Amino acid sequence: MRHSKDIPLRPKGKIKSLRPLLRYLKPYKFQVAGAGFALLFASSAVLGMGAGLRYLVDNGLSKGNTDLLNQAFFILLSVTLLLAIASYARFYLVSWLGERVVADIRADIYRHLISMDIGYFETTRTGELLSRLTTDTTLLQTVIGGSISVAVRNTLLFFGGFLLLMITSARLTGYLSFMVPVVVIPIVILGKKVRTLGREAQEKIADISVHAEESLNSIRTIQSFTLENHENKRFSGHVENAMNAANSRIRMRAFLTALVICLVFGAIATVLWLGGHDVLTGTISGGQLSAFVFYSVVVAGAVGAISEVIADLQRAAGAGERLCELLAVSPNITSPQSVQQIAIEEANIHFDNVTFFYPTRTERPAIENFSLDVGAGKTIALVGPSGAGKTTIFQLILRFYDPNSGHIRLNGIDIKNISLERLRGAIGLVPQDPVIFSTSARDNIRLGNISATDDEIIEAARKASALEFLQKMPNGLDTYLGEKGVQLSGGQRQRIAIARAIIRDPKILLLDEATSALDSENEYHIQQALEQLMQGRTTFVIAHRLSTITKADHIILLNEGCIEAVGTHRELLQKNALYARLAELQFKSAA
Ligand code: ATP
Repeated sequence: MRHSKDIPLRPKGKIKSLRPLLRYLKPYKFQVAGAGFALLFASSAVLGMGAGLRYLVDNGLSKGNTDLLNQAFFILLSVTLLLAIASYARFYLVSWLGERVVADIRADIYRHLISMDIGYFETTRTGELLSRLTTDTTLLQTVIGGSISVAVRNTLLFFGGFLLLMITSARLTGYLSFMVPVVVIPIVILGKKVRTLGREAQEKIADISVHAEESLNSIRTIQSFTLENHENKRFSGHVENAMNAANSRIRMRAFLTALVICLVFGAIATVLWLGGHDVLTGTISGGQLSAFVFYSVVVAGAVGAISEVIADLQRAAGAGERLCELLAVSPNITSPQSVQQIAIEEANIHFDNVTFFYPTRTERPAIENFSLDVGAGKTIALVGPSGAGKTTIFQLILRFYDPNSGHIRLNGIDIKNISLERLRGAIGLVPQDPVIFSTSARDNIRLGNISATDDEIIEAARKASALEFLQKMPNGLDTYLGEKGVQLSGGQRQRIAIARAIIRDPKILLLDEATSALDSENEYHIQQALEQLMQGRTTFVIAHRLSTITKADHIILLNEGCIEAVGTHRELLQKNALYARLAELQFKSAA
């Protein structure tokens, strides 16, 4: 099971790879057209000023014509005003487009990521994905909201300026053109080096966020093992690596800028010197030389600006490429094309010779030749040593993974032919260590059924034996539970999870009993809550309590992915040594 495309480690960073992202500009045609018009107008106005300058020098200054000087002054002021208005429109529209497009891309990527299958997240680092979602999109924003317009404006200025240079003096332009390769080739070579270094710096920054995320997520483990210093050192190592990588890039970039200035302005000075001689010999007029100098500065400025933003464009191209790759990966687990519209009133579940290998562990099956029939409303207790495959059975029912061979059927229909929404909508999961989101208790319970009313939430909390402790909290059900529910005990977290499952009213219940010892009061409450919850539902329970086991309709003893024995507690105790040993070691008596 491989995803159609994995994230490339070394994106090529070709500017044309930004092309697939152009579709994000499509809905904003008017803004793009407005920005384009403003850009064109502003560039033409700048170029027009050179022609004005030539006219002014030749006709106004040389001939002492005061009226013409005054007239030129007012024209210049008007053009400047129009230029300012066009620049305002360009800046506003382009920056707005940058923000808008990146907001759309972010939302799209998140929507895409959240629909990816579980296997994808096992093979992709979360930090890597977060960095795509934040750093890469921010890079794109700089480019769409600025660099592209700088590049386009300066390309226009470059070509327009060059044309006008030709018109002003072909001879001087000839000299200038001769110098172009001398100026451009070193810049291109160094620019490439800057990009490579930029990419390396980017990767080092991704390492920082991966490390920070991992360690902050396991802060309890780190503090309990007093690993703070160790972690600090490791983190500082990453930070220094990133700093060193950034430093190499900055040094190269600074050198590039200095080189650009030297080469470009050196070339202009040379042309000026040659042009000066032409004026002295009368080959060209003073106005022509003034305009030529003006256009040379415009063209040189344009080359400089392009060389500045080209690195940004290349970096953004790398980012764009990674984002496109991310959007192109398709989930391995999807709803079928033609969905069987079934109403799940009850749940008969049938495993038909199921064998499953985890995508990352292809040498050994996690489940092998597993066949089982579970009638509606029955309770199946899954028991077995650690790593036997109990949790894997849950993951397969939830269709987090598809079996490599065999079928799982719900009411006779292969679950691959049921829409994921319908299938998962019929399942309630109570994990061993429930996830509590950083919001109120009420909203945490509501996650089981987003459309539940407040009364239903209270009723679910009551049935889950959670109402009493929740009401005693400072703001009752509206109390904020802290990140990952740190303000709750293990037993309380479980009861919230049970309330969540109750409000979902699922036909299939997947219950992973906590192995950790709870105090007898918590144990009693949870037992009560679970009994409420299991009534009338097809239940799979990874059982650790003797009372759950004795009440189950069937006990399935799993060992190394295979069913080793099926029976009641009493039968298994008598006929199976592994079960007898497990019973002695693992099963707790409920209080
Ligand atoms: P426990 O009681 O310790 O939770 P379990 O019976 O629930 O164990 P499973 O989690 O189903 O066991 O694991 C079955 C086997 O599959 C184990 O050998 C485990 O190492 C492997 N396994 C579990 N999850 C993955 C995964 N995501 N990728 C690869 N292998 C996995």
